[in-house]
Amino acid sequence: MSLFRGLQFLTTVNDLRTLPQEGVEVAFAGRSNAGKSSAINTLANHTRLAFVSKTPGRTQHINYFDFGAERRLVDLPGYGYAEVPAAVRAHWEKLLGQYLVGRSNLIGLVLIMDARRPLTELDRRMLDWFLPTGKPVHCLLTKADKLSRQEQTKILREVEKEFDGQPQLTVQLFSSLKKQGMEKVEEVVGAWFAAAAGDMTDGA
Ligand code: GDP
Repeated sequence: MSLFRGLQFLTTVNDLRTLPQEGVEVAFAGRSNAGKSSAINTLANHTRLAFVSKTPGRTQHINYFDFGAERRLVDLPGYGYAEVPAAVRAHWEKLLGQYLVGRSNLIGLVLIMDARRPLTELDRRMLDWFLPTGKPVHCLLTKADKLSRQEQTKILREVEKEFDGQPQLTVQLFSSLKKQGMEKVEEVVGAWFAAAAGDMTDGA
């Protein structure tokens, strides 16, 4: 079975102090409404594993999903939802930053961005926080189906150009609607887990 097909809901956590101690994890983050829940559901071939919210930004919980063998997917709360009061947003963005910077179980970040407007200011802030950890970031340009082939290629090139010279940063097109780009995500995340397992057996 493919990695994501075995994904199962594990638990919901409300604050950083109660995160699970064991396991290695890959986090999915993105602006509210970027298509993160849809991407998780599509990858897992499950319609309602991650909650596709009708009121974006309401659920500020961290959801844990299990791949088996103590490997987890962490669904982080979407950031940047305009209708949440500024103070609440600032608080959550700070918590996200603390998680991204300080979480030792975390081995890589999948950053979900709408292909029509990637690398917003908040996305860049997430990257600024996370990149100093030295861990890899794989960006999904979602809702690619809303762009023509030509536009898809153009936006992919633009983001690749911005990431040029930073091997820690990779990017691909993705569409939950068309199931586009699923194999590539599996490949990248699978490689992160394999590398982490290798580190552990090396005693590193
Ligand atoms: P989240 O807030 O990042 O979890 O975003 P959701 O997964 O809830 O998606 C937000 C909206 O975008 C929903 O109306 C989805 O149906 C839509 N959406 C998500 N992914 C895609 C996609 O790949 N293609 C299209 N056309 N719509 C999408």
